[in-house]
Amino acid sequence: MAEFRFKALQEVLSRQPLVVRREDNLTSDFYAINVFDRPKMKKYLSKEAFKAVSDAIDHSSPIDRKMADQVAQGMKAWATENRATHYTHWFHPLTDGTAEKHDAFITHGESGGVVEAFSGKLLAQQEPDASSFPSGGIRQTFEARGYTAWDASSPAFIVDGTLCIPTVFISYTGEALDYKTPLLRALQAVDKAATAVCSYFDKNVTKVHANLGWEQEYFLIDDALYMARPDLVLTGRTLMGHASAKDQQLDDHYFSSIPTRVYRYMEDLENEAYKLGIPVKTRHNEVAPNQFEVAPIYEECNLANDHNQLLMDIMKKVARRHNFQVLYHEKPFAAINGSGKHNNWSLETNTGVNLYSPGKNPKSNLQFLTFVVNTLKAVYDNQDLLRASILNANNSHRLGANEAPPSILSVFLGSEVSQMLDLMEEAVVDRKMTPDEKTALKLNIGRIPEIILDNTDRNRTSPFAFTGNRFEFRAVGSSANCAPAMIALNTAVAAQLNRFKSEVDEIIATGIKKDEAIFQVLKKLIIESKPIRFDGNGYSDEWVEEAAKRGLTNVNSVPDSLAAYLTDDVKKLFASQDVLSEKELEGRTEVEYEKYTMKIQIEARVLGDLAINHIVPTAVQYQTTLLNNVRYLKEVFSEAEFEELAVGRKELIKEISGHISFIKIKVKEMVDARKVANVIEDPVEKAKAYEKTVRPYLDEIRYHIDKLELTVDNELWPLPKYRELLFVK
Ligand code: ADP
Ligand code: MG
Repeated sequence: MAEFRFKALQEVLSRQPLVVRREDNLTSDFYAINVFDRPKMKKYLSKEAFKAVSDAIDHSSPIDRKMADQVAQGMKAWATENRATHYTHWFHPLTDGTAEKHDAFITHGESGGVVEAFSGKLLAQQEPDASSFPSGGIRQTFEARGYTAWDASSPAFIVDGTLCIPTVFISYTGEALDYKTPLLRALQAVDKAATAVCSYFDKNVTKVHANLGWEQEYFLIDDALYMARPDLVLTGRTLMGHASAKDQQLDDHYFSSIPTRVYRYMEDLENEAYKLGIPVKTRHNEVAPNQFEVAPIYEECNLANDHNQLLMDIMKKVARRHNFQVLYHEKPFAAINGSGKHNNWSLETNTGVNLYSPGKNPKSNLQFLTFVVNTLKAVYDNQDLLRASILNANNSHRLGANEAPPSILSVFLGSEVSQMLDLMEEAVVDRKMTPDEKTALKLNIGRIPEIILDNTDRNRTSPFAFTGNRFEFRAVGSSANCAPAMIALNTAVAAQLNRFKSEVDEIIATGIKKDEAIFQVLKKLIIESKPIRFDGNGYSDEWVEEAAKRGLTNVNSVPDSLAAYLTDDVKKLFASQDVLSEKELEGRTEVEYEKYTMKIQIEARVLGDLAINHIVPTAVQYQTTLLNNVRYLKEVFSEAEFEELAVGRKELIKEISGHISFIKIKVKEMVDARKVANVIEDPVEKAKAYEKTVRPYLDEIRYHIDKLELTVDNELWPLPKYRELLFVK
């Protein structure tokens, strides 16, 4: 057993250094060469086809079949010139990752042989077998068939000789079976609602889009060592492993110089990203050893999310070239930091104004405050929904574990904006204001510094923080698709903006001036949403108490948190914004419950297997060595001498025996608990049973295994230890 472990280590140490595939050109010279972007469309499409696609991108207008045919011809010409042989509809099913089924461009030629062909029909719509993708019952209710349909707003790209066409994935009867469909609908809802509210301030605003800038954290592990850890291979995290004597306590990894091997990986990765038009900008070491981050320049939300999913895939592929494996799991190692994916989010108008940037004058600042306050209220009213959108089996290890915000939603605003809201709260706006009061309020509003980006104290402990010109949703997990968080947030904000608009309009209808009506409603919203504002330390115990006093919810159980999706309020919210019907919502929530159950089930199986087949035999072997040792001591020494010499050894044998017995008993109990849970049919009850009766064993059993790791002969231990896994140079 030990031999396997040392082979893995030896392989790591004996490898030749990799030479970086450095690009000779400037990034701007080869940026997006593998993307069918506007310049390429212009070159390869007729004028009318180019206009049709541009309109589809800018105004979501449909493209007819004739135009689609023209676009398909242009796309094929570009793709084949760039040595693409296949095409695929690329989509985001309700799994962890994307889906693709490749077809070659070939068709029979007229005089034998084959020719390359592609058509508008194949570009616009395809019918992959939907039956093996999770749908949460939607499939049973309707037909198994599913369709993928071209999302013209996200450009096609080439990866490894395959033309990838971003698509939505829907059932035969039109229900969303993916993440992209509801995301596009939520973005449309927020566009409509925000544009309507902007009409109070600027009639030139005809469209508002959401921006997303994600920050992706990840771990890199050497391939050979990874392969020697079945738990990493099968569950993405270590189910056992004693902490390394040194890990992150000296803060010597965060932002330190990037290890050479990793640096080569990052360069290679960045080049691949640039070719695909993914504007990655930031790279650095994160807090935990072997933990890193990559972040792009923000983009329109749907495109940014496609880029995140695509990059996560590319990161894994490039890692293989460098003998690395990428871990996206939110908590791959106990006792050191896990990984998140901060979602930086803002709204921007077609006139180029970021609605979360304070302006130069009272009018633009009133617009800014309108959007900030409505966002606050949306987060306050939808705490449970937002939590449900980010909490899952993996992320629950990280949230509230002194490294990530707790399972309480709160919003950090910073002192500048907080003071402004306090002023507005105190202002007398409930009755008709005197001209002096109005002037005073406007003066105050005019005092928000235009740039507060640098003087918002960066509070890193808040799950939802205002950072000067955007909100940063920090509770999102590193392995997640950004869509669920973005769907929940954009939908909640859209609904709140709609409510705001109708309340203000009602007041205006009574003869009160627009600005005063806005002040009145904002004041009401500021008071109502006050409990969600918290600028202090979100990791502290005091906050947990204080939040409870404020009536904020605190839920760490995944099944309990998911229940938020099934409340009447949330069903109404999604239906009112045409984002998800009740059926769609129930379907995808069922998928989440099932995912939770299956993840715990897999972890339990892997741990049981490793405990019984790897750990217990190793411990028994070492125990036998000790027993033999005791026997020989007895033979060699006198009775008195023996008693003195063997005392420590006997204790050790007893201790090892204790751990072995405990592990065996607990694994048996865990298997029995699984058997009971497995016969439960209702997915919600099943997930709850796994949470309450199976999951606790994972930690209990692990505790004893980790004790054995410290006791048993290092030579015998069958798995690479944390200190071996975690220090790439
Ligand atoms: P930090 O770690 O300090 O929060 P980073 O530079 O790592 O900052 O990441 C910040 C992310 O926020 C980047 O992806 C950046 O493009 C994005 N971002 C900046 N401004 C906006 C904005 N107005 N809307 C959305 N995202 C933004
Ligand atoms: Mg950040």
